[in-house]
Formats: sequence, structure tokens, C-alpha cells
Amino acid sequence: MDNNVLVELKNLDKFFNVGKDKTLKAVENVSLQIYKGETFGLVGESGCGKTTCGRTVVSLYKPTNGEILYENKDITKLKGKELKRFRKKVQMIFQDPYASLDSKMTIGDIIAEGMRVHFPKLKEDEVQAKVTDYLQTVGLNSEHSARFPHELSGGQRIGIARALAVEPDFIVCDEPISALDVSIQAQIVNLLIKLQQDFKLTYLFISHDLSMVKHISDRIGVMYLGSLVEVSKSKDLYDRPLHPYTKALLSAIPIPDPNADTKDRIKLQGEIPSPIDAPSGCKFSTRCPYASEICRAERPVLKEIEKGHTISCHLYNDGLENGLRIMEEMDNKIN
Ligand code: SF4
Repeated sequence: MDNNVLVELKNLDKFFNVGKDKTLKAVENVSLQIYKGETFGLVGESGCGKTTCGRTVVSLYKPTNGEILYENKDITKLKGKELKRFRKKVQMIFQDPYASLDSKMTIGDIIAEGMRVHFPKLKEDEVQAKVTDYLQTVGLNSEHSARFPHELSGGQRIGIARALAVEPDFIVCDEPISALDVSIQAQIVNLLIKLQQDFKLTYLFISHDLSMVKHISDRIGVMYLGSLVEVSKSKDLYDRPLHPYTKALLSAIPIPDPNADTKDRIKLQGEIPSPIDAPSGCKFSTRCPYASEICRAERPVLKEIEKGHTISCHLYNDGLENGLRIMEEMDNKIN
């Protein structure tokens, strides 16, 4: 990973009108940078806006406000050749591989389709040779080319091969393992890690599974109700989560050892509120065990609390040490 920014979101909003005077704020004021060669994990509960964010980044949705920069260019302003190049360089792997693959096309044609569009000078025998290469790259073989997606259990591998076939630089992986059997999940994550090294890829890896995202991500952003609440290097986030929501998410990861000490688990109160009618002030204030007056009145902004670690929480208004002290005192009272 180097520190060249490949993708940057600036104050990104994606809103949907859902009826008279009702707006669903799926993504609200999200700013982040994704560096070339890294995996940026985007995590949060279902409905937190992470998939909408990923779809907006690849231009499947038009942003409501804000900017998405790819190699410093605003993607909403791309036209002609530049837009075609962007569509080739940026690919997406979907949660449900079978729903995202045309069931009437053979696996070979699915993989070849993008190549025929983006590399029109390739002769058909060259396309077929490349299809075989990509099948092998993702752990399938040439015999799979003439078969249909539903004949195969490795649907996600087809989606990965299809994405690779247009030689992208950046792939949004939208919950790529959540529909898979547990025994397959680690294989797909390991495959994605290997492909990243071999093809110098950059990933936005969207997942609600915090245990799996840890293995693949260099940095992680935590989303709650359409907004980022914490961004940090992966190791730092797991070693010392600072935002109360991140702490609760991490404490809820299942521990395989039945004798493990679970007294420090934080149980989130209530359900995630509707993004149509988010709480005023801090969006997490209705579920946060540390919420105070200011939390219900003012929305906290994301700011850097230590190098490379940003957080939006009023607990840290007077600095990191002060925030940690307040949290510890409140933990002692709660326990
Ligand atoms: Fe909790 Fe307040 Fe921080 Fe929001 S701002 S996470 S309510 S302590």
C-alpha cells in the first residue's frame, strides 16, 4: 500500500425520496480517502448505508450532494472516453453472485462480455484464452466455461473472474462472503488477498462481519445510520476501539470459547432508528450508554483524535485522554 489517494469521497450524500415530504438519508456527509493498493473495510449493521455508499462510488447511483474523486477527477463529470475508462477501471463484486449473473449466459460468455466491450481489438481465440486464464486464476478450470452459473456452487468465483477480466484497479466488494457457507468464506477472502497482490488491486470491502473484515482490511470505517463514526487502521480499531458504537459492535463478535469472559460485552439498546427520521444530535444517542445532554442537541463531527484515527463523538471534545477517562468512569458506574 502506498499513500497515493485513488478514491476520495467529499461530503457525500445519497438521499432517496420515499413519499410525500419523506427523505431516506442512506448516506449522509461521508468523507473518506482510499489509498492505492489498500483494502478499506466499511462495516456496520444492515441498513447503515454501506452498500448504498459502495454503489454510489461505482456510479450505480448518482450522488445527491458532494463529490466522488477517482484519481482526482470528479466521476460525475466524466464523459466519453474518460467515463468508459472509469467503468473499466472500477468494478463491483456483489453479495448474491447468482442474482448478479445472467443465468442464460454461459460462464465463459459472462467473463468474456466485458473484455469484448473494453478490448475490442482482441480476437475471439484470444478472448477464449483469457477466459481460461481467469477461470484458473479464481480456482475454476476451462471446463466451467461452457456451463451455466446455477450448475456451479462457486458463484462468487465467477463474479470475481468477471470483474478481473476488464483489468480493473479498484473493486468494490459488497458483502462478497455473507451469502456463502462458512467453510467457503475464508477461501474467498484468501483468494481476494492473493489477487490484490498479484494484480495490484485496491478494494473497498463492505461487510457486516467484523471478524472476517479484520483479516483483509488495512483500514476500516465504521458506519452508523448513513454516517461514518470512526476511521482507523484495522489493528488500532480492534486493539482499542474508541467510538461507543464500534466498542459495542466489536464486543458482540461471537467468541468460540464457551468459557470466555463476556462481562465486558456491551449490549446495544433497541433497534437501529429509521434513516428517514434519524435522531437529532448524535445519531447514536438513542442507543448509546454514554449519551449526555450535548449528544442529543449537537451532531458530532468526524475529527482526527490521533494520527490516522478519526472519530465523531462528543466524549472526545476535550481530547483523547479525557474521553477515555470519562468512558472508564461511566463504565465503572454501569457495571
Ligand atoms: Fe454516545 Fe454522545 Fe458519543 Fe454519540 S456523541 S456516541 S451519544 S457519547
